[in-house]
Amino acid sequence: MTVSRETVLKQAAERNVEFVSLQYTDIVGMVKNVTIPISELPDCLDHGVWFDGSSLEGFARVAESDMYLVPDLETFAIIPWDEAAGFVTARMICDVQTPEGKPFAGDPRYALRRALDAAQRMGMTFYVGPEVEFFLFRAGPDGRPALIPHDVAGYFDATTDAATHIRRRMVRALSAFGIEVEATHHEGALGQHEIDLRHTEGLRAADHLVTTRATLKAVAQHHNLYATFMPKPIAHLNGNGLHMHLSLADATSGKNLFFDAHDPYSISKLARHFIAGLLAHARGMIAVLAPLVNSYKRLVPGFEAPVYLIWGRTNRAQLVRVPRISTNRPQSARVELRCADPSCNPYLALAVILAAGLDGIRRELPLPPPVEEDLFEVDLRARQFDVLPSTLGVALEELQRDEVITETLGPHILERFVEARAREWEEYSHSISQWELDRYLPTY
Ligand code: GLU
Ligand code: MG
Ligand code: MG
Repeated sequence: MTVSRETVLKQAAERNVEFVSLQYTDIVGMVKNVTIPISELPDCLDHGVWFDGSSLEGFARVAESDMYLVPDLETFAIIPWDEAAGFVTARMICDVQTPEGKPFAGDPRYALRRALDAAQRMGMTFYVGPEVEFFLFRAGPDGRPALIPHDVAGYFDATTDAATHIRRRMVRALSAFGIEVEATHHEGALGQHEIDLRHTEGLRAADHLVTTRATLKAVAQHHNLYATFMPKPIAHLNGNGLHMHLSLADATSGKNLFFDAHDPYSISKLARHFIAGLLAHARGMIAVLAPLVNSYKRLVPGFEAPVYLIWGRTNRAQLVRVPRISTNRPQSARVELRCADPSCNPYLALAVILAAGLDGIRRELPLPPPVEEDLFEVDLRARQFDVLPSTLGVALEELQRDEVITETLGPHILERFVEARAREWEEYSHSISQWELDRYLPTY
């Protein structure tokens, strides 16, 4: 479905839109916004809107750079929580262009577009179904999050789950943005929840993820709660993952290319190469998928998050899981990548994931055998599988060594991404934690 300029203007008039929030995402994944009054919309649709492109860098502003926000017509939606506050505001997600009308190399959405184009040139369309995990914490009197989970329920619990209605409101708000939800449930940790989005084409999936984060935070706030996507807020509980269900379809016929009825896992040779590519580039791309110092505290044994570079069907320690699909639904064949967390920049994350998988396909990388037994941690360690980097510092080094991943980001984004994250890693490394003080001060 393509939306025309006229349809957007007509919808804006019909809904009495007063403001349009033009959104883009900086390199570290924060949503940014320039708001225009409705009178500016026709001109904006024709020429874009000027803004300072240095705001994309996600850290200290350097010299101003003149860039243009060009709205993607298909992302026009009314922001539901603004309506409740008495304003009719539409949002549109934008591409960033130079004054010459070229895509800007520092725009994460453009990095994803390039990766998607590479798949199209190979005759394939990339589909993604994300599972978003988050905690609901109580807000303290000052409105800041208190580290108190909002309930005492557990995995799929219905009886003690106080957030049932809040999740329903979240689904409603998401649907106002055209985001389809497949399911919601309570997750394993106290106060932890999950919302599974219906699979959609790669660019839309990234747009949806960015919108989902903002929506869940807004709905939670409405209930005096704080929704957090921080990867590991509580040390002894599971962290927040962002599992991605991935598949490739024939760009012409739409047929799912990951399905093979004769394979024991019902996946095709192509899917096997794709998984092999994910395994081969996992160490190189993890800094993009799990970009915070805190992300690596989630990727440890014992909390249903992956550590080992293995694949299979059932073990939650696997990096890639191949879900069992019913044989009469070949279109749902897919692989689930379990290492990303919801603090990532979804555009960059999907760009590098796709590039890794395509590299596996291009080089016909062989897939090692699955690891299926219900393995204990000790068994896994004894088998000496490769592991994910254990800190952001190591992950950043691995990123810079992986040519497929660095090329996918492009030099502009790579340099700034590494600079922003390395600064954070250094700051953290130089800090003295409460754990160290508790442990060492009384003794030494
Ligand atoms: N919360 C776990 C993680 O950190 C995943 C739990 C699950 O299997 O859904 O990835
Ligand atoms: Mg989950
Ligand atoms: Mg999952």
